[in-house]
Amino acid sequence: MKKLNCLECDAELAVPSDAIQGEVVTCRDCSTAYELVSEDGGLFSLKPAELEEEDWGE
Ligand SMILES: [Zn+2]
Repeated sequence: MKKLNCLECDAELAVPSDAIQGEVVTCRDCSTAYELVSEDGGLFSLKPAELEEEDWGE
């Protein structure tokens, strides 16, 4: 099982063994959401998930 740590608080994030690109994991300590980005070698890196914050326009 791969281990990733929260970029905000360094807590360990639980990444499912069958995690896929684009899956969102949430830090249980600080509630920051991250999107999994697949890297070479079957690893994942973290990208802060953009919460739906649509620009409603005018
Ligand atoms: Zn955290």
